[in-house]
Amino acid sequence: MQSKDSSKSNFNIPKIKFTQLFINGEFVDSVSGKMFETIDPRNEEVIASVAEGDKDDVDLAVKAAREAFDNGPWPRLSPKERRRIMLKFADLILEHVEEIAALDAMDAGKLFSVVKTGDIPNVADVLCYYAGAADKIHGTTLKMSRELQGYTLLEPIGVVGLIIPWNFPSPLLMHKVAPALAAGCTVVVKPAEQTPLSALYYAYLAKQAGIPDGVVNVVTGFGPTAGAALSSHMDVDKIGFTGSTEVGRLIMHAAATSNLKPVSLELGGKSPFIVFDDVDVDKVAPLAFVGAVYNKGEICVAGSRLFIQEGIYDKFVKKLVEMAKTWVVGDPFDPNTRQGPQIDKIQFEKVLSYIEHGKKEGATLLTGGNSLDRKGYFIEPTIFVDVTDEMTIAKEEIFGPVLSVMKFKTVEEVIKRANCTKYGLAAGVMTNDLNIANTVSRSIRAGVIWINCYFAFDPDCPFGGYKCSGFERDLGMEGLHKYLQVKSVVTPIYNSPWL
Ligand code: NAD
Repeated sequence: MQSKDSSKSNFNIPKIKFTQLFINGEFVDSVSGKMFETIDPRNEEVIASVAEGDKDDVDLAVKAAREAFDNGPWPRLSPKERRRIMLKFADLILEHVEEIAALDAMDAGKLFSVVKTGDIPNVADVLCYYAGAADKIHGTTLKMSRELQGYTLLEPIGVVGLIIPWNFPSPLLMHKVAPALAAGCTVVVKPAEQTPLSALYYAYLAKQAGIPDGVVNVVTGFGPTAGAALSSHMDVDKIGFTGSTEVGRLIMHAAATSNLKPVSLELGGKSPFIVFDDVDVDKVAPLAFVGAVYNKGEICVAGSRLFIQEGIYDKFVKKLVEMAKTWVVGDPFDPNTRQGPQIDKIQFEKVLSYIEHGKKEGATLLTGGNSLDRKGYFIEPTIFVDVTDEMTIAKEEIFGPVLSVMKFKTVEEVIKRANCTKYGLAAGVMTNDLNIANTVSRSIRAGVIWINCYFAFDPDCPFGGYKCSGFERDLGMEGLHKYLQVKSVVTPIYNSPWL
């Protein structure tokens, strides 16, 4: 029997309240009057029609954000006051947790229980973290070599454009919005076209919390129109982007050919999950399996290349297959479900075509490999063995529940193979040997290394990639500093008793 299918849900879907653009503190129609449909990946039905913003709407949103930055109260409020309002925003989010979680679960096919207990509380945590940082933004005193006195000021960078993907619509939005707000910036958010609903809800709550008009604007719409207009806008001072490496390149190009605005890019990955012989297989195999299929594999840090040392290889693979066969795929509102549908038809077909590549290129399909025989974009958790480093499924980001398993012998070999990728987002190292853990974690060229754990996120832990996985960091104090500019102030000093 393959992975189980769950298909029932008793959850009462909330009414969709917000479907217009949010500009200058008001919900408004798009200038063109156009709408687009957001689709429920469980059943391919329309959830809602949402305003389709494009260049004209981005112009209006940027104008509002510019005015709010140049002349409005937000950047000029005392940090204490900004903190108070941000904490209120976090409280309001937690008060509406069920409703927001339902929006993301529906829009993205994510597990409702996980969004409710994980994603949305994380959003509130991140807001609280940066609210607490708002009054700790300060420069340094400079030790000048001559009779000069110098210090640095950290000033908000200005109007920030934030372009968000669909796989974690809420956390990835707030990982950017919260530090930008703490810094005193104003923002125009472009959520992914597949998941526009929660972003509009956050805009509503931001206003309720007391964030002044024009500080938070949301333009729903498509990448090549609304997203491109934002990234090439002459009046946007910075772009924060999370998404694919391909679109990351377009964003950099748009920034380079407009006003040379700085960009930060959080991009794709093909992360190695490395397991050494000395681990407890019964504990680590479930972690490795979940590391690949969590959020249906639609997670940038999926441990989709699993390297197992030869001594435990057979036992480990057996355990993985057992896990896959009892893994329940189905309605994300059903509490028994462990995996919902892929986000949309395009992604669904892309994942299935990668599975075909795997078979054609000679990998052995141990379990899964099929879609479920029902409406919606459901795919079984899929495990390939006999995968070589050159195969497409070992090289490309699949963004689906597909695990490529490889065997290795030595520490040196696995370091070399783990680094043999254009990406460098994350890695997992599972061993009880401290020396091996240290050597491997320092040798892997990736922005996040998890030793004996996986998906261990925290607001204080900077997150981002090496190589084609991007640059700059979200979260932690690094995630705040990218929304600030450093200004050096220098003045001569005369008759100082000391230099
Ligand atoms: P995507 O790049 O297709 O889209 C991301 C966002 O960019 C969307 O809002 C989209 O509308 C917009 N966009 C598309 N074309 C654009 C253009 N020409 N100009 C401006 N904006 C444009 O990515 P996706 O399919 O939504 O997300 C999946 C990708 O995101 C994966 O590669 C995944 O690894 C990556 N991701 C990375 C992280 C990270 O933190 N590193 C986190 C989540 C997802």
